[in-house]
Amino acid sequence: MSPYRLILLLLTCLLPASLLAQSSDTFSPGKATYIWPTNAGKYMSSTFGETRSAHFHSALDLKTWGRKGYEIYATRDATLHRIAIGPTGYGKVLYLKHDDGSYSVYAHLLRFEEKIQQIADSIRFKEDYSFEIDRNLDSLNYRIKQGEVIALSGASGIGPPHLHFELRTPEHRPFNPLLTNLRVKDTVAPQFSNLSVEPLSIRSEIEGSNRIYTKRVRKNNGSYSFGTVDVSGPVGLGADVFDQANDVYNAYAVYELKMYVDDELRFHSKVDSFSYAETNQMFVDRVYPILNEKRDGFQRLYIADGNTLPFYKTANDKGKLDLPDGTHSVKIVASDYFGNSSEANLRLRVNRFDKPTGDFPKASLSNGSFAELNAGNWTWFKNWVNIPGEEIEGLTVAELDIYSDPDSHTNYDDGNGMRLKLNPARDIFFRTSFDDHFIARQVTPGRFSIVPSTTDKSFAAFQPGTFYDTLSVGLRVKNFSSDSTLIQVHPSNHPIKKAYKLAVEIDSLQMTNSKLGIYKYEHRREKLSYLNSERQNNYLVAEPEELGSFYILEDTEAPELTNPKIVKRVDGKWLVYVTLQDRLSGLDYTRSTFRVNGTRGIAEYEPEDNRLVYYHPEFKPETENELEITVYDMEGNKTEKNFSLTFDPEN
Ligand SMILES: [Zn+2]
Repeated sequence: MSPYRLILLLLTCLLPASLLAQSSDTFSPGKATYIWPTNAGKYMSSTFGETRSAHFHSALDLKTWGRKGYEIYATRDATLHRIAIGPTGYGKVLYLKHDDGSYSVYAHLLRFEEKIQQIADSIRFKEDYSFEIDRNLDSLNYRIKQGEVIALSGASGIGPPHLHFELRTPEHRPFNPLLTNLRVKDTVAPQFSNLSVEPLSIRSEIEGSNRIYTKRVRKNNGSYSFGTVDVSGPVGLGADVFDQANDVYNAYAVYELKMYVDDELRFHSKVDSFSYAETNQMFVDRVYPILNEKRDGFQRLYIADGNTLPFYKTANDKGKLDLPDGTHSVKIVASDYFGNSSEANLRLRVNRFDKPTGDFPKASLSNGSFAELNAGNWTWFKNWVNIPGEEIEGLTVAELDIYSDPDSHTNYDDGNGMRLKLNPARDIFFRTSFDDHFIARQVTPGRFSIVPSTTDKSFAAFQPGTFYDTLSVGLRVKNFSSDSTLIQVHPSNHPIKKAYKLAVEIDSLQMTNSKLGIYKYEHRREKLSYLNSERQNNYLVAEPEELGSFYILEDTEAPELTNPKIVKRVDGKWLVYVTLQDRLSGLDYTRSTFRVNGTRGIAEYEPEDNRLVYYHPEFKPETENELEITVYDMEGNKTEKNFSLTFDPEN
């Protein structure tokens, strides 16, 4: 590194956090006084910037100790800006707008304060008893004072009981609420658990392998060590590290990470704020293949291609390490918002060596027994794929351009697998048996691409901007029977930015079956989730937001309603619960109707508890209660059910 660059790097690191100043001239989180928004206590279950299923956590989650019904307060004087209610995500949520133009958001509520609840109810009853609403209420000019009770805490939407407390700039960028005067007691330093080392080229090796390598930390007298790791070629480090606060056991994301190599600062990240447009870049901030498989959030100590988040300051190499031969000392420092910090040390022993290169030994690979084509176990990188040794037998690989330059696909056999270079200009054909094959086509982030299947006319179509980085994508379609088809979009362990079009050709038998849908198979949870699937000529079309495995399946089973119950909520409101199960496509909650004693109420759906809830602000149970319920699943299967329910006020 030149002295000039070093000075520049030091200067940028010393500058005060200017992220928020960039986004707004007038707003600064330090200027206003915020109050703690609940009487549940000053304890967090999650910090700002943690990993969620497909984005960064944009708030503090405040503990409500597994219970519902704590008071929620306006953190500052405000105008009621927006109300939303829905079955997933934030559930019941309030958005307040403060006089400096910034916002505060309170999610997963049990209910709103009486007057606000009346506003929400009047909208819902007027709009055909709809459960789901999302409404801007600026025109009401409904004023709220700091400290006023605006709601009770709950568990609506996703997750156990807690308050999701989010602050946003006037430009709707969520920022870390700890940047304000709000504080929790935290004298506990972060703790390291694991290190990851990722190969950044087909030549790279970590401990003799071209796969992602992980290592557990050792702790001696309060100091963390990852020992020595042998590497060759460019690599990227990552750290699995968490923080805690006093008195509670929750594990949090750290606020700040620094990586020094031979005492020189090479990477620095700090999570102050981001935009909603960038929030799914969580996938490239973390080591995605590990996140996808194990849910462990290893934070990359380098900036992966396609990552434009504002968290980082690095040298020109973006934290990627292509170090000269010899042993290098690496120090990783993790800090929480209150300045408690820990460091972990590592020796990287770099030894460049050249593997034998040559043309791919095609002939030897096409002999032998047929193996199941299981490309899900292969590790796909930007320019190469790593195929495990046990899957090479019986595999045929061919470039589809017969005029290809033999030098263009350099391959390595490292004893425990094969690395196959992926050529941007040509498709590569993989086959293990007559029925088992696909074409891998390299797609680039800036271009529209279509990836076809080999056996029929099915295809996946990707708009520009779908991928973070260049990637080889393959589509495999395998028909088991007229109502069961497997579709695999490889590689399954790579993130994408937005939905793409998956069009699967259906045969004449399938054409007559109106209840076929495309389902995403969620490997980790071993669950199928329904994708809104549509008929277009002789295709079944869906728009998945992930690569991976899908099934075409038939759903002819209507939802089941059982176990009706009258309950009194912690706020004194009477409700009726009915257990709802649907085997495949799931409830179409926009079509449910629910009457009790002849009065239609709102049919609220709580998917995490598998129940339908009858809500009417004036409902009080009688001794004998008549329930009339109609529900549909996503494929239109209908259930109509009546229950007679005796209510004993003594119980
Ligand atoms: Zn949250």
